[in-house]
Amino acid sequence: MEQQIKITKTANSKLKDIDFDNIPLGTTFTDHMFICEYKNGSWNNPRVEPLELIPTHPAAMALHYGQAIFEGMKATVGNENTPLLFRPEENAKRFNHSAARLGMPSVPVDLFVEAVKQIVGVEHNWIPPQDGSALYLRPFMYADEPFIGMRAATSYKFIVICSPAGPFFTKKIRLYAETEYIRAADGGTGEAKAAGNYAAAILPTEKAKAKGYDQVLWLDANEHKYIQEVGTMNIFFKIGGKFITPSTSGSILKGITRDSVISLLKDKGFEVEERPITIDELIGHAKEGKLEEAFGTGTAVAIAMIEAIGYKDEVLTLSNDNPVSQDVKNTLDGIKTQKIEDKFNWILPV
Ligand code: PMP
Repeated sequence: MEQQIKITKTANSKLKDIDFDNIPLGTTFTDHMFICEYKNGSWNNPRVEPLELIPTHPAAMALHYGQAIFEGMKATVGNENTPLLFRPEENAKRFNHSAARLGMPSVPVDLFVEAVKQIVGVEHNWIPPQDGSALYLRPFMYADEPFIGMRAATSYKFIVICSPAGPFFTKKIRLYAETEYIRAADGGTGEAKAAGNYAAAILPTEKAKAKGYDQVLWLDANEHKYIQEVGTMNIFFKIGGKFITPSTSGSILKGITRDSVISLLKDKGFEVEERPITIDELIGHAKEGKLEEAFGTGTAVAIAMIEAIGYKDEVLTLSNDNPVSQDVKNTLDGIKTQKIEDKFNWILPV
């Protein structure tokens, strides 16, 4: 990397006030952040410094035109209390894929990975050691140029903040297959981790929650029948002994957990098909008793077992028994904490 990351540490750590057994979701932030600015074609002044408010011009373009992207990743602790990252280069590549789609500059992969390594190194003691807990990392980039007008901004900030997280969604989840609203259309931004995708999902998710569901199961934009993904997860079904996950055709976020789970399932001897699957096909298999397991995959949860899927007036209730899903979850958790051999070379010690 061309530039050294300058580190300035706080004299007033908040770590002593944190109870790792009771971490409130998403509201606790660590002492520091990584930050650097983009101007005149390059990223400048990369540094780790005490987390503080960022002065923002009211015309900052991200606030108006939505040039804002993010990533989600986790740091865990392994043997001898070493901080570990899980496939951080994949997050860096996806970040740049998102940036390109939104007309934003790329962040060199080595700067992205080094930024994450440095902040995790500084916040090492904030990684909760409890099973299933981790330090959630949120790299993000937004356009901060003050300008009214429709074009790509010329200045951006790239920041990484960290938030300790307890085990998410330990309960099974109920999904609502959405037939009115859509998440992403062909040619749109569904394959990017663009802030606006999440804004568009808020109302449908609130409505699904009001009906007693946890997350939306998104269907395709054209025909409202092909299963795409769930809230902030990709989806897998075990049907007649093999696994099926929707192929990522441009409107689905390419989950890093999804990719890892495909490798793990194949390694465990299962056939995995990446192909389009309709909600009617799924219901047909369920009625024939062939839908054996279903789960969502994502960084926040790793694997979330699915208990039920609501579609129009029907509710599909899934089996309570998820032996393969549980085994995959245990393997993934084990690799992330060095209790299981990392034969895929996914772990990067900090
Ligand atoms: N789909 C969406 C829309 C998401 O936000 C996420 C979380 N990043 C995922 C899928 C799962 O991706 P990953 O496994 O990389 O966390």
